Amino acid sequence: MLQNIQEKVGTNSRFDTQIHRRPTRTVMVGNVPIGSEHPIVVQSMINEDTLDIEKAARGICRLVDAGCEIVRVTTPSIAHAKAVGEIRSLLTQKGYQVPLVADVHHNGIKIAMEVLNHVDKVRINPGLFIFDKPGVKPNDFTTEEYEYIGERIRTTFEPLVKKLKEQNKALRIGVNHGSLAERMLFTYGDTPQGMVESAMEFIRICHALDFHNIIVSMKASRTPIMLAAYRLMAHTMDKEGYHYPLHLGVTEAGDGDYGRIKSTAGIAPLLADGIGDTIRVSLTEAPEKEIPVCYSILQSLGLRKTMVEYVACPSCGRTLFNLEEVLHKVRLATSHLTGLDIAVMGCIVNGPGEMADADYGYVGKTPGIISLYRGREEIGKVPESEGVTALIELIKEDGRWVDPV
Ligand code: SF4
Repeated sequence: MLQNIQEKVGTNSRFDTQIHRRPTRTVMVGNVPIGSEHPIVVQSMINEDTLDIEKAARGICRLVDAGCEIVRVTTPSIAHAKAVGEIRSLLTQKGYQVPLVADVHHNGIKIAMEVLNHVDKVRINPGLFIFDKPGVKPNDFTTEEYEYIGERIRTTFEPLVKKLKEQNKALRIGVNHGSLAERMLFTYGDTPQGMVESAMEFIRICHALDFHNIIVSMKASRTPIMLAAYRLMAHTMDKEGYHYPLHLGVTEAGDGDYGRIKSTAGIAPLLADGIGDTIRVSLTEAPEKEIPVCYSILQSLGLRKTMVEYVACPSCGRTLFNLEEVLHKVRLATSHLTGLDIAVMGCIVNGPGEMADADYGYVGKTPGIISLYRGREEIGKVPESEGVTALIELIKEDGRWVDPV
């Protein structure tokens, strides 16, 4: 029977429960490796003014303390670029070694050349790297003008690529749907193709100079556009033999539940398809609030395990205790642990079968009594009032408990 089913469906990947990462090179950002051979990296960006050295350094420390692994700062001027050197020194004094990334925007070549001395990665936006004919309507480009601007981009960009190569640092080619260059808009329209070609133009220049420490992003605030752009980018790079890692994110996702859901709706499907090597959830909130969202996305896809995975039934007429209250108590007692799956299920009718191979189970047995499980094995019954304590004891017995800090 199983063989018949397998013959019918073949080994179709629709039935594959593993995520297969798109193979990429490894790009080092400081001491953090990014690429398909490594865990997906969580990053964010401070919103303090880079010129306020103390405040910016404190913002970076808060992000690192929250679990952020790479931090970006904005550098709109040479003064900002120089300030990053002071921020770096202050961080070193405080014992923080986190890799730093500088965001460089409009006509930013001089800024990029300066800030590269202080950071591990520079992010450029192809749409803003050179202002090509600002103010001109996008139906004004001739082939000669298109090529002339391409040549200006190449000659302006090359010194940065050479310096990146000399210093063995990384570059993010960070395309933004909202700031595509005029000539890309003219040629490809406001489309994923235009975004991809914007990045490819810069990738080809790097390739010609044998520079490969490249990470690419294709951000958009509209999730379907972002999804299409990343998929097309991954496909185009693979087809042309460029195996660079991808940085995923939805820009201007907003705040609160919707901001989190919108970011997840963009990032998670790509990760599930194996696309993406580092992520940022952009929220209009304190940057450190982005980090738990990143980890939740990664944990829920099984890509990183940084906390306890709770499996809980939705409760129904069979539920033998206040499930919401008990789950809350179990979470309070165990959320500092890592790497465990704990199930809280309302009844023994369906609970044990549906615990999804959890390491431990807390299951309603009869009114006022719960059963504890280790894996699929029922360990014993205890009164509900002692359930959480007994669960902790069981985890301790197995040597998997650590005291909260
Ligand atoms: Fe209902 Fe039991 Fe299923 Fe929970 S495990 S939803 S209590 S049948």
